Amino acid sequence: MQKTKIVLATGNQGKVEEMADVLAEFGFEVIAQSEFGIESPEETGLTFVENALIKARYASQMTGLPAIADDSGLAVEALGGAPGLYSARYAGEDGNDQANRKKLLEEMANVADQDRAAKFVSCIVMLQHPTDPTPKIAIGECFGEILKEERGQNGFGYDALFFYPPKQCSFAELETAEKKKISHRAMALQSLKQQLK
Ligand code: IMP
Repeated sequence: MQKTKIVLATGNQGKVEEMADVLAEFGFEVIAQSEFGIESPEETGLTFVENALIKARYASQMTGLPAIADDSGLAVEALGGAPGLYSARYAGEDGNDQANRKKLLEEMANVADQDRAAKFVSCIVMLQHPTDPTPKIAIGECFGEILKEERGQNGFGYDALFFYPPKQCSFAELETAEKKKISHRAMALQSLKQQLK
C-alpha cells in the first residue's frame, strides 16, 4: 500500500521517531520539516493549541503535504499557568533548562506545599491541508507538584522539579522508557490514535 506522506513540524529527532511509529500504523510516512529546509514560524499564539496549529499550518503551506505539529510545556497553578508557552525560554535564553529550573525554584520559593500543583501539557495537531477547517487536536496532560529542590538525573527541562504522585517520584527519577509510556506526549499521541481510528 502506498503510504501518505505527512510533514512533522519539529526539528527534534526524538519526536520524529516517536510519532513516526504511531503514524506508521495508520499508513502515514512521517517526514521531518528539516528535510525540506523549512525554518519554524514565529509562535504568536496564546495557547498550546494555537501555537501547534501555527506550526502545522506553516509546514503544510510550505510543503503542500498534510502536517502534524506539537507544542508542550509546564503550567504551574500558583503562577497563573506560567511558564506555559514560554517554558523553553522562561529564564530568557531558549533551551537553557538549568536556568529555567532555577527561575522556577525562585518564583516558587514562597509558595506553600498545598499550592504547588502543576501540569505538563502536550498538544498535537494534524491538518490535512493549510486551510483544513477541522484539524485533529489531541491533548495530553500529566498532573503533579513542583518540588522545592531538584530530584533525579534523567530527563530534561523541568523533569527534576516535577513530582508525579502516581509514581511517587520526580519525572527525572523515572527510567526514560517508563516516562515515555506515561508522559503528556504519550497521552496526546494516544488521543490522536483514537481520533485516527
Ligand atoms: P517543546 O514543545 O518540546 O519545545 O517543549 C517546550 C518546553 O517545555 C521544553 O523546553 C521544556 O522546558 C518543557 N517541557 C516540555 N515537555 C517536557 C517534559 O517532558 N519534561 C520536562 N520539560 C518539558
